[in-house]
Amino acid sequence: MQTKQDHTPSYYAASAHAAPERPVLNDHLEADVAIVGGGFTGVCSALSLAERGYSVVVLEANRIGWGASGRNGGQVLAGWSGESELVKQLGPKAEDFLWKTRYLGNEIVEARLQKYDIKCDYTHGAATVAFNAKQMKALEEEYADCVEHGAGDVLELADGPQLRRHAATDAYIGGLIDRRGAHCHPLNLLLGEAAAAEKNGVQIFEGTRVTEILHGSSPAVQTENGSVKAKHVILAGNAYHLLEKTKLHGLMLPAKTYVIATEPLGDELAHELLPDNLAICDSNWVLDYFRLTGDNRLLFGGRCTYSNRDIGDIEGELAPRMRKIFPQLENTKVDFGWGGVIGIPLNRVPLIGKISDHVFYAQGYAGHGVNCSHIVGEMFADAIRGKETGVDLFDATRHFRIPAADTIGGPMLALGMTWYRMRDALGV
Ligand SMILES: Cc1cc2nc3c(=O)[nH]c(=O)nc-3n(C[C@H](O)[C@H](O)[C@H](O)COP(=O)(O)OP(=O)(O)OC[C@H]3O[C@@H](n4cnc5c(N)ncnc54)[C@H](O)[C@@H]3O)c2cc1C
Repeated sequence: MQTKQDHTPSYYAASAHAAPERPVLNDHLEADVAIVGGGFTGVCSALSLAERGYSVVVLEANRIGWGASGRNGGQVLAGWSGESELVKQLGPKAEDFLWKTRYLGNEIVEARLQKYDIKCDYTHGAATVAFNAKQMKALEEEYADCVEHGAGDVLELADGPQLRRHAATDAYIGGLIDRRGAHCHPLNLLLGEAAAAEKNGVQIFEGTRVTEILHGSSPAVQTENGSVKAKHVILAGNAYHLLEKTKLHGLMLPAKTYVIATEPLGDELAHELLPDNLAICDSNWVLDYFRLTGDNRLLFGGRCTYSNRDIGDIEGELAPRMRKIFPQLENTKVDFGWGGVIGIPLNRVPLIGKISDHVFYAQGYAGHGVNCSHIVGEMFADAIRGKETGVDLFDATRHFRIPAADTIGGPMLALGMTWYRMRDALGV
């Protein structure tokens, strides 16, 4: 018997637009493309394919947006995670791809908001901030690199006093402001895109877990009570699926990460903290990030755990970190706290490629999934049409596979992250 889970209690679930409950698949269907997973990767791929005239079925084990896509920080950032590793491995063609796609995710999202009239509190403006000289130097280098590649006009380097005009805190020594970056209510973005996909003919099933992918020139996905035979399958289950262990096992370790949202701050305090409504993330390896929501709450995320255990007291862990940045929130109540699983490949390069000629997969975008999943959806739709896309580039990347990931993988990652946390604390 399948057990469908509803959205985790969160600020997003509490403020989600009404969405229909989709049926469980109890049938044997045929389509051009079957998609496993109803997060951004699955839904964006479905919409991109349907816009090109393909028939598509999406199978989601729980609800649309139940996974990371409906729980994240909502930051729609520039670029990909693992960029330097990608360039180190694949050279100029990777560099070329990365510059071409730096803001492509933002462009796709913005075009969809217009085209399908999606309301998700989408707001321009993001900043990466530095705690120490080493982090600031890295931001200065990034800025110089962007200027050299013609992408500097939306960026602004700020020293401590300049940054303080954008974020009322003394925690940082400076930052890089990106006016093209953005933030949004990710669950409402995704629900809007799912509705758009359905308008374009996509069939979506919820409470429908795929138990097996059958490969071949005409692959199929098997569910508990049904199946979909297709020309192509896209595996978009991210950190939650347990499929295709031969190719994908041990390449990505799931980390639990957490978010809190305060009570509404009111216009005055919200404006005092973040006068131009930037989404901010720091430069630590294990980073903290925050932004205002549409109703002026401070949404603050950070902290990672690498074992299967949840931290017991999410507010107790995160609120002190938030108040260290903004002591002004000393007496502000926290209304929501939740966690989600993020997929992190050890070299941070997203896992995107083909398991066979007809089966694609994409997972492990680390903290860049909102923008990158939108690019990946377009890439898959074009790849299925036979066009050359970045899929081959990512597929050619070498990844580190952790032996016995189920048993020693979590502790190994925990050890690695303790090392990085120590480096963050020491500023080296
Ligand atoms: C707390 C948190 C904060 C984050 N903050 C940001 C941020 O600010 N900006 C950013 O860009 N990224 C952020 N991320 C990362 C981002 O959310 C993810 O990279 C992105 O949402 C991944 O989308 P996805 O569709 O690949 O996976 P998911 O959204 O995880 O969706 C996978 C879906 O597949 C379903 N599924 C799994 N197995 C099966 C199966 N066998 N059959 C059917 N369905 C299945 C799951 O139920 C799930 O709904 C954050 C992540 C977390 C957890």
